[in-house]
Amino acid sequence: MQTKSIQSYLDDHALSGELKSIANKVFNKQRITVDEGVFLYENAELGFLGAMANFVREEKNGNKTFFNRNFHIEPTNICVFTCKFCSYSRLLRQKEEGWELSASEMLDIVKKYDGQPVTEVHIVGGVHPKNESRFFC
Ligand code: SF4
Repeated sequence: MQTKSIQSYLDDHALSGELKSIANKVFNKQRITVDEGVFLYENAELGFLGAMANFVREEKNGNKTFFNRNFHIEPTNICVFTCKFCSYSRLLRQKEEGWELSASEMLDIVKKYDGQPVTEVHIVGGVHPKNESRFFC
């Protein structure tokens, strides 16, 4: 986001004093505090956060975006939590609707990508109540 459009963004949007103050810090390349981050989490709209995040991203990387080549392994969807946005987790008592991969099954998934130009194995899944290694999503 160019400096001119940042100013027009601030002018065009009816931001509260606190949000405007935080935005001015970000657009003037100052770090925000933990309390300001919490305030954004509780009060800011997604588009507003995106505009600030994109500004910081372009400041750091210019007009370039980098991607990795990954594949996902989801060891389990059994989870102690019930996050509202989550569509796939199952509580332990719903175990019949879930899955739990063994280490061997996960290695079999990895082997399928042998020779492929992969840069990351992304392992993510439910927080299983009986698994001491604790997979986090
Ligand atoms: S799998 Fe992740 S997102 Fe879903 S309920 Fe568990 S912790 Fe939340």
